[in-house]
Amino acid sequence: TTHLVWLRNDLRINDNSALYAACRDPGARVLALFTATPGQWQQHHMAPKQAAFIYQSLCLLQGALAERGIPLHYQQCDDFAASLEYLADFCQQQQVDQLFYNYQYEINERQRDAAAEKRLDDQGVICQGFDDSLLLPPGSVQTGNHTMFKVFTPFSKAFVRRLHQGLPECHMAPRARAGGPIAVEHEIPPFDYPLEDFDATLFPAGEEAALQQLRHFAQQPVVAYAAERDKPAVDGTSRLSVYLATGVLSPRQCLHRILKHHPDALDGGHAFVWLNELIWREFYRHLMVAFPALCKHQPFVAWTRNVRWQKNQNHLVAWQQGKTGYPIVDAAMRQLNTLGWMHNRLRMIVASFLVKDLLIDWHDGERYFMQQLIDGDLAANNGGWQWAASTGTDAAPYFRIFNPTTQGERFDPQGEFIRQWLPELAAVPDAHIHQPHAWAQKNNKTLDYPEPIVEHKDARKKTLDAFERARSAA
Ligand code: FAD
Repeated sequence: TTHLVWLRNDLRINDNSALYAACRDPGARVLALFTATPGQWQQHHMAPKQAAFIYQSLCLLQGALAERGIPLHYQQCDDFAASLEYLADFCQQQQVDQLFYNYQYEINERQRDAAAEKRLDDQGVICQGFDDSLLLPPGSVQTGNHTMFKVFTPFSKAFVRRLHQGLPECHMAPRARAGGPIAVEHEIPPFDYPLEDFDATLFPAGEEAALQQLRHFAQQPVVAYAAERDKPAVDGTSRLSVYLATGVLSPRQCLHRILKHHPDALDGGHAFVWLNELIWREFYRHLMVAFPALCKHQPFVAWTRNVRWQKNQNHLVAWQQGKTGYPIVDAAMRQLNTLGWMHNRLRMIVASFLVKDLLIDWHDGERYFMQQLIDGDLAANNGGWQWAASTGTDAAPYFRIFNPTTQGERFDPQGEFIRQWLPELAAVPDAHIHQPHAWAQKNNKTLDYPEPIVEHKDARKKTLDAFERARSAA
């Protein structure tokens, strides 16, 4: 019999549910297939850095599979519909009996998979899908009324209770097939999609690198995480997001690795603070399945659709380029543009700035993030933006508006992070780094740095008005 593993967002051999299941029968011929879909990726605004990261990780995976005697077939198609055609033909040509794949939870992906199952079923191929990219499957953590939680804290508590009942298992990488290792016959050509170099010292591609980073983080840094995670100048977070977003690492691997070093992590131990972030990741994915409209640009809170956003291209571009005149915002945006990654605290600050200071539609920010982020992930990104824009479930209430200057003072007091990204402020003393123009004026200096493009106090008032009008119109 022939088993096919259709790889998508699960580019690893360890703890890969579909791959593991496909290899269970030692007598089966096991093949793997990856279909690149540049047209679809364009529609989903995939960042060129993420595409390059996926490409490199895929090439490494091809080698790891070959060592186990599993050939990875590659085909570039345009979009999901074309990949489906290719899959059906491939199954026929290769006389595939069973297809194994891990679920994706975004709406287009789910529709594609439903169509694939139907098509292959007609061809007599048995399809098996797996919940793989989450600790617990969507729908398995619910309120007493069997509905999805809309508030994070009770979700997290229920989630931990579920974990106490039984931890999700981690599967080993499959052993080599009976024939032993094979040679890589066809190297994968670069995707026909914009590919952009990323910093491979910060985000080395592939599973080995991911595991090494996880092992390192799980020993010591995770303990300091609670104290350090809000300081953008400190390397205090795991930087595992790109691996989780592309499936080079599984959340189960993270959970087990943390518990190995910190067995009390689910019982109030220090390391729980970090595990709770993984639970945020689960929360947004579970939500997306319970409310598929989230995949279709819909706000969770309906009345926020009535907010009259400002269409100001100059402001949007100033924000994108890190030229708003608010140092913490600008430094953050330049980090994003350069690395394709931004510290979580800063994601909250810049998102709040775009929506609440510039009154620009959060969809514009959401899209720009996707176009830049190496770790872009629909559920987490949409969740983060709707949180910041006060349009989401369990979001910041609309009248709570970050002050970008005080946020900077609080989380980057000496301006250490700001200086890394805004060399034009090098001459400004620490005490004035968050309001450099006030200092320049007083001291008769000129700065090659923009004046604030809006005044926070006025902007705040305008935003409150806009939200209040939208709410009363509902
Ligand atoms: P750590 O602090 O070490 O966290 C560990 C892991 O938990 C992360 O790798 C990530 O997988 C998960 N995680 C942490 N925080 C969140 C969160 N708030 N929501 C969901 N998952 C979380 N994360 C993405 O992976 N992709 C995105 O596209 C994305 N967009 C965001 C947009 C906005 C506006 C905001 C406010 C947050 C966004 N996040 C996104 C969440 C978070 O900022 C990143 O996951 C985190 O900064 C990645 O760095 P890390 O791996 O060092 O995180």
